[in-house]
Amino acid sequence: MSSTILVAGGAGYIGSVTAQLLIDAGHRVLVVDDLSRGHRAAVPQGAELTCARVGDVQAISELLRSNRVDSVFHFCAHSLVGESMRDPALYYENNLIQGKLLLDAMIAADVKHMIFSSTCAIFGLPQSVPILEDDPMRPANPYGETKYAFERMLHWYHEVYGLNYTALRYFNACGATATHGEHHDPETHLIPLVLFTAMGKREQIEIYGTDYETRDGTCVRDYIHVLDLAAAHLTAFEQCRDRVAYYNLGNGAGFTVREVIDAARRVTGRPIQVHEGPRRAGDPPVLVGGTEKINRELGWSPEHTELDQIIESAWRWHSAHPDGYPG
Ligand code: NAD
Ligand code: UDP
Repeated sequence: MSSTILVAGGAGYIGSVTAQLLIDAGHRVLVVDDLSRGHRAAVPQGAELTCARVGDVQAISELLRSNRVDSVFHFCAHSLVGESMRDPALYYENNLIQGKLLLDAMIAADVKHMIFSSTCAIFGLPQSVPILEDDPMRPANPYGETKYAFERMLHWYHEVYGLNYTALRYFNACGATATHGEHHDPETHLIPLVLFTAMGKREQIEIYGTDYETRDGTCVRDYIHVLDLAAAHLTAFEQCRDRVAYYNLGNGAGFTVREVIDAARRVTGRPIQVHEGPRRAGDPPVLVGGTEKINRELGWSPEHTELDQIIESAWRWHSAHPDGYPG
């Protein structure tokens, strides 16, 4: 059955891929995005864009009401750990206060379901890996803290106002589709930066730390393909609308920084110069998610799990869009 879904942040990386998947599945998609960090050209054809902040309660509640929206997929956030350490006020304002106003608009318009883009950063330095859903949460930076606080807010909006929600805690989103890819400005993520090096846009990739207690001394991360993330949203929408749910979304496997660089050399056939630098402050050595819960309860498991396959999809997109999205 076709539903109407508001994709908040649908001009961004993960939101635009999810919006496309929703359209392909026959849903009507409205996008709200202030284009502060997104791209008009990333909004899929067939989605109706409203350029506004999610915290504009009047505009958003009117949009929700007049379009009889069934659910809000909430991707809007600032998500740079380093920036959040320099400017926590920005993160509290955009991720928590704006998000709270979005929830208020939903309650005002009687829209009672949200899928929220949470993050593994809510766990902080893990005590054990893989990280499970109910492991201790001790966010180590304002970015993770605002996401954690938003999950708690969702809890109370459920208890008191009857809002149902699914919180999806992504690990490291990566990869591209034939039409949509990753374009952040500034780009700080490992895979695009490695590919920029292969393209000659950068001279070298700096490895942040080679003395970790891991199999090759570099950090291990759980790289999850953006299409798998998008598919998990559809699965959660189909199965969890009448309740509260929360899941970790990872690939189930971890890869080191050196493994990512080696895979990129294989895929691109280009040499990639490396500079071995010091550790980046606040980087946990290993972040890998356990995804048994969502597999067991909803039957979701990631399909694009091979590192070469993930990097190949990103390479195709960056090669076709060397400057990212226009505008
Ligand atoms: P992105 O920056 O590409 O997309 C976010 C979009 O939201 C942008 O288009 C931006 O313009 C918009 N936006 C931000 N604040 C807004 C506001 N107040 N009003 C209206 N629009 C606003 O980010 P992404 O990489 O696609 O991440 C999407 C979500 O997933 C974020 O919430 C992020 O915290 C979370 N997440 C991402 C990753 C990752 O690896 N990329 C990992 C874990 C969690
Ligand atoms: N990293 C790196 N060099 C870079 C960017 C990232 O060595 O130029 C490492 C980083 O220390 C982390 C991993 O690559 O261990 C993934 O970093 P990214 O910023 O992509 O995601 P994060 O795990 O920080 O969310």
